[in-house]
Amino acid sequence: MVLAGQMMDRPLLVLPLLQYAAAHHGDSAVVTRSVEGPVHRTTYGETYERVQRLAHALTRLGIKPGDRVATLALNTWRHLDLYFAIAGIGAVCHTVNPRLPADQLAYLLSHAEDRLLFFDICFADQAAALVAGVPTLERVIALTDAAHAPTDGRFGNLLVYDTMIAREGLDFPWPEFDENTAASLCYTSGTTGLPKGVLYSHRALVLHSFAVAANGLASADDILMPVVPMFHVNAWGIPYTAPLLGAPLVFGGPAFDGPRLFDLMETEGVTCTQGVPTLWQGLIVEMRARGHKPKDLRRVVVGGAAVSESMVRAFEDEFGVEVFHAWGMTETTPLGVINRPKAKFKTAPRDRQVRQKLKQGIGVFGADLRIVDGEGRAMPHDGTAQGHIQIRGPWIIKSYFKEDHSPLTADGWFDTGDIGTLDPDGYMEITDRAKDVIKSGGEWISSSMLENAALGHPQVAQAAVIGVPHARWLERPLLICVPRGEPPTLEEINAYLATRLPKWWLPDALECVESLPIGPTGKILKTKLRERFKAIRLG
Ligand code: AMP
Repeated sequence: MVLAGQMMDRPLLVLPLLQYAAAHHGDSAVVTRSVEGPVHRTTYGETYERVQRLAHALTRLGIKPGDRVATLALNTWRHLDLYFAIAGIGAVCHTVNPRLPADQLAYLLSHAEDRLLFFDICFADQAAALVAGVPTLERVIALTDAAHAPTDGRFGNLLVYDTMIAREGLDFPWPEFDENTAASLCYTSGTTGLPKGVLYSHRALVLHSFAVAANGLASADDILMPVVPMFHVNAWGIPYTAPLLGAPLVFGGPAFDGPRLFDLMETEGVTCTQGVPTLWQGLIVEMRARGHKPKDLRRVVVGGAAVSESMVRAFEDEFGVEVFHAWGMTETTPLGVINRPKAKFKTAPRDRQVRQKLKQGIGVFGADLRIVDGEGRAMPHDGTAQGHIQIRGPWIIKSYFKEDHSPLTADGWFDTGDIGTLDPDGYMEITDRAKDVIKSGGEWISSSMLENAALGHPQVAQAAVIGVPHARWLERPLLICVPRGEPPTLEEINAYLATRLPKWWLPDALECVESLPIGPTGKILKTKLRERFKAIRLG
């Protein structure tokens, strides 16, 4: 019989992360480019005070453990308050992506049965539509001060955040509860059907914060600026990990463009930042225009989509900013894999180093990975066998909110829907989404590797590859690109790609377009491209 350990059974809860920061790093800064305009400065000490006041206000509004409270908000100090106060009283912070279409927003709030909605004033129109369309919604609160609150009467009895919490006192009697209680809720982006709710437990979020800190996405001597939105998978956990480390936080609010990102990073001395590749393209343009990087920037974490070779070379070779490639998904809280070079690659020739950096990385402790074939059989970790990537661990989804059937395999793994390889050094490389991979004859061609290779061509600004029907091979790649300057020909592109990829991968057709359709989380919408080019038949 096993012998029980004799350590305290203290629950892993989210609020103590902030309480720790307030007690030990109380003067660490939380700086925001506010939605109202000016830069706003606060500290962890003051944040914890506001969080206590907000907890009183939420309780006064009738919010009870288990209730869902929606936020329609950017990265700001007020959104940080909400993360901790809502979870702290045992309720659930439902972060909603304001860029979704109105009908999807209404669906999400109705599905979650949100009772309150907190909104940034730049999303007043979306919030007003939700007041009318979501029956469970009782009150809406504008995340601003009295001077900037909407006055147009569309919200019924509107509350104003700063005024509301100023009326409340400190010393909230925080409840203690089971660590498996839900703390936050985020829906998948729903590119393949209705969005599904992922309910993060306190335990998962705390363990995930340790993993984020242990794997270099953030460290105690950093000034952190998550550019990934707080409405998308908890901004990759940075709002929880930064207080755990006592590290200062910088929030961009509405600033997503290169010039404003650069300015904030420069003036606030940001050292480490996290976001998707589309955002970094704007920052690189700005760095080139000014001829230097934001002065203290050391590290950029790139995830959500694959980093391209040209992006790695721009950050690292032109500006001396290190790139950490990372992979995860809404269902994995999100950190699953991060690419930090093993010692042996640090001394490898530069081309070899860059090649290795394009892989998504090594599974972090706590997130087990495997690749399997279509029948669920384990595949070799040889860096070439492509299979379905499956994952399990304490911050990986077990079931979707309000769905009965389990999304797991019979032996308890979550199938990510991604296709990839694992190499003998432990590095995972995503070669495609299962639904995007191009099935040419009996073989798979990776659309994302083709896209990344095409992006290296000087006349290609943006690239997307989809499979189109082919008489002999069933499917062949069509390259769709936004040209940089003179549009390239298929022959020119293929001459370039032929030195980098297997010959049989090269696209059979090329379409040049003015822009690519981008979804609300910054990813290319291949469904739209398939629809637009559905008439193309090859062979
Ligand atoms: P989401 O749940 O919206 O965050 O999307 C998760 C999906 O984004 C993953 O399943 C991948 O298909 C994709 N993804 C995330 N990170 C990367 C990466 N570093 N490289 C390639 N694809 C990625």
